[in-house]
Amino acid sequence: MVSRVIPVDPFDLVIFGGTGDLARRKILPGLYRRYLAGQMPAEARVIGAARSDLGVEGYRSLIAEALEEFVADDMRPAEAVAGFLDHLGYVAVDARGETGWADLTSNLRDSVVRAFYFSVTPALFSDLAERVHAHGLVEPDTRIVVEKPFGRDLASARALNAELATHFDESQIYRIDHYLGKETVQNLMAVRFGNILFEPLWNAQYIDHVQITVAETVGVGGRGSYYDKSGAMRDMVQNHLMQLLCLTAMEPPAQFEPDAVRDEKLKVIRALQAVPEPDVVRGQYTAAGGMPGYLEDVENPDSTTESFVAIRAQIANWRWSGTPFYLRTGKRLRARLSEIVVRFKQTRHSIFDADARGAPNELTIRLQPDEGMDLRVTIKEPGPGGMRLIDVPLDMTFADALGPDAEDVTDAYERLIMDVIRGNQTLFMRGDEVEAAWAWTDPIIESWEADDRLRPAPYDAGGAGPEEALALMHRDGRRWKDIRT
Ligand code: NAP
Repeated sequence: MVSRVIPVDPFDLVIFGGTGDLARRKILPGLYRRYLAGQMPAEARVIGAARSDLGVEGYRSLIAEALEEFVADDMRPAEAVAGFLDHLGYVAVDARGETGWADLTSNLRDSVVRAFYFSVTPALFSDLAERVHAHGLVEPDTRIVVEKPFGRDLASARALNAELATHFDESQIYRIDHYLGKETVQNLMAVRFGNILFEPLWNAQYIDHVQITVAETVGVGGRGSYYDKSGAMRDMVQNHLMQLLCLTAMEPPAQFEPDAVRDEKLKVIRALQAVPEPDVVRGQYTAAGGMPGYLEDVENPDSTTESFVAIRAQIANWRWSGTPFYLRTGKRLRARLSEIVVRFKQTRHSIFDADARGAPNELTIRLQPDEGMDLRVTIKEPGPGGMRLIDVPLDMTFADALGPDAEDVTDAYERLIMDVIRGNQTLFMRGDEVEAAWAWTDPIIESWEADDRLRPAPYDAGGAGPEEALALMHRDGRRWKDIRT
């Protein structure tokens, strides 16, 4: 199979925060891979922007080091790295002052797509938006890319949306949720809407429940002070898990077109019922297996911030009424795993002996570690001995099914950046979606914050999460799928 790379128009991409962790780990390595794939036009320019006085050569050395660290050796032939570095420029700019803006302005060309990536702390988003606008850098073909977190509650997200709207049209704003850039997430839409097999069954009549799990093995690492003010609900549920829920639950959009898709996602969020207290569990990891507990990691012995959340969510609409969506995410769990599990109902009537009956069909959509899907179906166990049923996976791991092309599955960031240049907002969150998501999570967070005697349920570092999360499903006669890769 031959990979098709569709070239994009020439562009000037300014990365504010171009020396930061995200830029070095994800954005620049992603752009480099696009360069290697032949997708970056010769006239494309990437301009790092931060306060440090590095100069262009200093910036190129910094990024050369980042590529060494974050791109595989066999993907870094010297001439390719040198060719990519030639595309890079650098301007020392202060988001909060006037330093560097004239220099930046003179570096930009009029005739190409212009994008500003705000890869800086959210506290600088408004300053940047205001200055980019005040310096006359916004043209009809200009886009801004805004990193997460987008607000920390409904009020702050609204305020930020309003601020951005004074300088940019909504069609120019690209709010990143990198989960949406994953190959499998798009494949979920391809599978649902490109086959006749699934969509007729994709409703409460045939689906028993859906599980969405984003499990991490890492603790809070060096991000302790940020994380302790945020917690799993703000950091993961309000954005990544809700986006996965929306794509799983949404109605078919009339076209695969940005606003058609985002309208349908928004309807799902608005149909989510308020979560009653017994339907949500928050947890905090404790020291186990030689790993420190959360309180030691964040150096705050009184913290009640959650490193784990499980929720039984219900969508009050015609398609999903009666089919719960169980969400769970946490740090320091047994394995690193992100997946959506769609558990179908049993056949209405079995013609086989009760003890011969197979398990219900189950579609698993894996986002990491190995992107792919598997569908468990019931067949007869081979050989003599009567009709005994077993369930087997129809495995659609992309690397197996699609050969070498699939091994080089485009990383989420590089796909999303190319979408920005193309002007395609389908995989970016619209302002109203973000606000609706906060409107759903805010009451849960507020109820926790209102009573700081309520402590999260403890769970062992390296385990499967708190007992209470298991009980959330047992209560309904169901079980979580094991957190196992
Ligand atoms: P970081 O490592 O702290 O980098 C911050 C960058 O901003 C640096 O380049 C810094 O350079 C620059 N900067 C700081 N103050 C500035 C100012 N006044 N004017 C211009 N530039 C300024 O942060 P990060 O981890 O890369 O995160 C960037 C954004 O991505 C944040 O919104 C974060 O929430 C989001 N994000 C990060 C990750 C991740 O894995 N790192 C993941 C998801 C989302 P100077 O000090 O030289 O100015």
